Amino acid sequence: MKTISENLAAIQKEILTSCLKAGRSPEDVRLIAVSKTKPASLIREAYDAGQIDIGESYVQEFLEKTASPELEGLPVRWHFIGHLQSNKIKYIVDKVYMVHSIDKLSTARELSKRAAAKNLTVDYLIEVNTSGEPSKFGLSPEELLKTAGSFFDLPSVTLRGLMTIASPDPSLAHEEFKLLANLLEQLRAKAPHPENITELSMGMSGDFEKAIDAGATMVRIGTALFGRR
Ligand SMILES: *Cc1c(COP(=O)(O)O)cnc(C)c1O
Repeated sequence: MKTISENLAAIQKEILTSCLKAGRSPEDVRLIAVSKTKPASLIREAYDAGQIDIGESYVQEFLEKTASPELEGLPVRWHFIGHLQSNKIKYIVDKVYMVHSIDKLSTARELSKRAAAKNLTVDYLIEVNTSGEPSKFGLSPEELLKTAGSFFDLPSVTLRGLMTIASPDPSLAHEEFKLLANLLEQLRAKAPHPENITELSMGMSGDFEKAIDAGATMVRIGTALFGRR
């Protein structure tokens, strides 16, 4: 079995290749290492190999890991990427670098409220259901464009862009990534501060090359780095 450090180097090389193929600058694509179900010791290995952006999906597990002896106090940038219920936001608001998975206006409002209570401004992304699969979370493209104005108005959060989880079918995935990129442009056209809204969080172990081709600025990779779950 390969070490985390070797996996990380291999993924970075693939990201670089994908960027060159797509005519993009590698500095414009950030790797988020997705560590759900994996122990803090493995995250520490990734951190020691230079990986600072870490993605977690479950609140309880996230809290345990941020407080674990292997990781406590390190300047890890914790990205929350899993489904987030409003009543859990208070536990994570002062620990996250960015929330990728805001899928309702009411959740964004709660994030803003909890951030204000701690004198923080929290960066977040809106999750969009680009595949239309009923099992997926996220606003539909129509809902996103219709309700965007209310997201811009929230005081203690900053909307940075959009996130999606694509269909398992790679050819469909590519179209869904392009749709998200198109929605980001439409969102920017409506935004009072379009310069803040630049992030496209899309692409996982199986489809990140296509996501980079379509404009991803953050790819969320778990399995290829930490192994099967
Ligand atoms: C688990 C997860 C990933 C990583 O998926 P892999 O296929 O293991 O790379 C990315 N994004 C989200 C939202 C996830 O839940």
